[in-house]
Amino acid sequence: MDSYQVGVLGATGAVGQKFIRLLENHPWFTIKALGASKRSAGKKYKQAVHWIEKTELPSASANLKVKACAPEEFKGVDFVFSGLDSSVAGDIEKNFAEAGIPVISNAKNYRMHDQVPLLVPEVNPDHAELIKKQSFDPEGNGWIVTNPNCVSVPLSMSLKPLHDAFGIDSLIVTSMQSVSGAGYPGVSSMDIVANVVPYIGGEEPKVQTEATKVLGTLSDDTIAFNDFKIQATAVRVPTIEGHLLSASVKLKNAPSSIEEAEEAFTNWKNPIANLELLSSPKNPVRLYKEDRYPQPRLHADREGGMQTAVGRLREGTVMDLGYVTMAHNTIRGAAGGAILNAELLTAKGFIS
Ligand code: NAP
Repeated sequence: MDSYQVGVLGATGAVGQKFIRLLENHPWFTIKALGASKRSAGKKYKQAVHWIEKTELPSASANLKVKACAPEEFKGVDFVFSGLDSSVAGDIEKNFAEAGIPVISNAKNYRMHDQVPLLVPEVNPDHAELIKKQSFDPEGNGWIVTNPNCVSVPLSMSLKPLHDAFGIDSLIVTSMQSVSGAGYPGVSSMDIVANVVPYIGGEEPKVQTEATKVLGTLSDDTIAFNDFKIQATAVRVPTIEGHLLSASVKLKNAPSSIEEAEEAFTNWKNPIANLELLSSPKNPVRLYKEDRYPQPRLHADREGGMQTAVGRLREGTVMDLGYVTMAHNTIRGAAGGAILNAELLTAKGFIS
């Protein structure tokens, strides 16, 4: 198949850089244009970016001139990925969709919009159909698809096998979030070195709602949110990549043994496995039995950073089950998740 020409909005940020790295040599998607703020526009990408990836800056992107994030600057692209700051993503993403350019976004602005899918391909691939109901572009060429925030991705993925087997009643979750989750330059070193900061502005409301949409049901023209309640505490910890969550879950039909809960994870079938998408992990939700696993430094990069890890699965004393879960925040929780969304939407014929 021919490669699609893509743009990256917010290309200079932490998530934008992950897009540049992950799309290098991607057989379906070729980067044609990069966009960022006025501070960067007009410069070559290698001059505008403060490159924080461990690999070399790909030469194909290094010499592209950064553009302003306006649709007329991105003529000829088939769609754009967005890693824009949420303070500007609302207007910019809408402008692109209205101009007939599809947007696959990481920003929070349209996640709760009733016509916009909040997509995790292994959990709710059917929600992509909501695209057909969108009215950003009357001709239907431009639309917006989002992925959940970097905590809600592993939370949704780890809840899905439990939801399918037992039904979720409610949960309490504490997220221990790495510094890369705050973008670049992110959290002040004076705040985070040898420390824990027990508050991340704006994070808890997202964690308390997004998984109920992801695990919701698509009806004719909208998503009926799932009815479980989430209580969240979001904490910044001095890890670099990988958000670790501790969850305590009350189920609608509790399993009779911990083995039955383990089987819910090990027997769960990935609904998109047959599509063999390029960024799709072979085992999207891996259950670790070792008490000390998963750990961000050891396991965040597993399966190209696309796997969600689950561990410490145990009977609860107050709730039915306790477990920890973890995923790479800028890959599975952001750029890699968005690329997987684009692969799914290509396979389903939404991108042509
Ligand atoms: P970041 O490092 O601060 O990058 C923000 C990007 O937005 C930069 O490219 C910046 O360009 C661009 N930008 C800022 N103001 C702009 C404007 N007025 N016009 C056009 N572009 C502008 O942030 P990040 O961590 O990559 O996050 C990007 C988005 O992804 C956010 O919406 C965030 O909530 C979401 N997200 C992040 C993570 C994560 O783990 N980091 C995970 C999931 C979702 P300049 O360099 O030119 O200023």
